[in-house]
Amino acid sequence: MSLNIAIIGAGIGGLTTAHALLAEGLHPQVFERTDTGETAGAGIVLPANAMKVFKRLGLADEIIRAGNPIRVMRTCDRADRPLAAIDLARVSDEEDFRSVAIARPVLHGILRAALPDGILRYGKALTAIDRAGAQVHFSDGASALAELVIGADGLNSTVRRLAGLKGTRRDSGQWCFRGIADLALGDGPTDELRELWGRELRFGYVALGPGKTYWYATFSNLDALPDDTPAARQAFLRAAFAGWGGPVAALIEAQDPAAILLHRLADMAPARDWAAPGLVLLGDAIHPTTPNLGQGAAMAIESAAELAHQLGAHGNGAAALDLYVTRRRARTAHVTRSSWRLGRLANLRAGWACAARDMAFRIVPDAVSARTAQKIFLDGAPG
Ligand SMILES: Cc1cc2nc3c(=O)[nH]c(=O)nc-3n(C[C@H](O)[C@H](O)[C@H](O)COP(=O)(O)OP(=O)(O)OC[C@H]3O[C@@H](n4cnc5c(N)ncnc54)[C@H](O)[C@@H]3O)c2cc1C
Repeated sequence: MSLNIAIIGAGIGGLTTAHALLAEGLHPQVFERTDTGETAGAGIVLPANAMKVFKRLGLADEIIRAGNPIRVMRTCDRADRPLAAIDLARVSDEEDFRSVAIARPVLHGILRAALPDGILRYGKALTAIDRAGAQVHFSDGASALAELVIGADGLNSTVRRLAGLKGTRRDSGQWCFRGIADLALGDGPTDELRELWGRELRFGYVALGPGKTYWYATFSNLDALPDDTPAARQAFLRAAFAGWGGPVAALIEAQDPAAILLHRLADMAPARDWAAPGLVLLGDAIHPTTPNLGQGAAMAIESAAELAHQLGAHGNGAAALDLYVTRRRARTAHVTRSSWRLGRLANLRAGWACAARDMAFRIVPDAVSARTAQKIFLDGAPG
């Protein structure tokens, strides 16, 4: 008899878990609270560790075709003058494992469309879990059999709350604006992700494909944004980044103001308890990280692969869940802490501290940066 597995949430974590379980011969169902599973969202960079999992699941080729493979990650000063670079060929020598920039809705679409019919159920917001009766209940009155519940329902996880598992949310003190501008990068390199660092401000951009560029900007205070309207967001960005180099001003002008996203950045202190009998968490539901290293979704994708591997090898028992948690807890905690520290560095206020930081970037050899990146990207990632 096959195991009834209910994945709660059809984000990148839940969808990848469904693919990984199917690859192990298991048959999950995914329950998503929204009516279509479609996501707003700008771009995302899938680093080498995420692409490694997608390659094994047979999804990498389509993602690479729909996105833009990245060769270099470069940190620059506010004038767009290079300070440091990570050559991604040094991080992974396998072409398909390079990082790929892609529009989020496109990635979600690929992950959804590649699932067999009948696996995804929309309009199903989880409201209760009856573990003794192995049932999950939804706000529309429906219920489903679930011998194993996988909570992939994001930072404000209902599964985590219903299971009584602790999660201490941390506010990073930073805001992030994001968008996809209708602008080609002209003569600039299209296989680079660039981040320009200033005082308390950071602007990143990367080409997504012909005529489209994903950009993001972080701030530690929004006092100069009195009204939160699309036009005010654009005006705020224009003023904050006046005089910055590269295509920063052109990207802000080319952006449709109505599609500028604004989020407060938060994570959770690394958690100890990830599972209870018949229930386990993954992705932002248990190991969210600030986006400074671009690793949040990648961690969810890695966790999906590890959990499916353990369930495939050991069945639905405590052993599988214990092995999953043991393999994932230290790695995700390392990424969460490293990302938190990098966020502090990026948002330094004092001019002297920024100058010292930029100098340090200049003198660290690129090979050292590549080794550090390799540690984050691949060391400890599921084999
Ligand atoms: C500004 C920013 C930039 C980022 N950039 C990157 C990047 O470049 N690279 C990277 O790897 N990561 C990045 N991340 C992190 C990444 O977006 C997240 O880590 C990732 O999307 C988490 O996926 P998830 O599936 O765990 O959760 P979510 O994406 O939050 O998905 C959860 C899903 O569960 C559903 N849900 C919630 N509650 C219920 C319920 N009760 N019942 C049913 N369904 C429910 C939601 O509707 C949603 O579809 C970034 C994050 C931010 C904020």
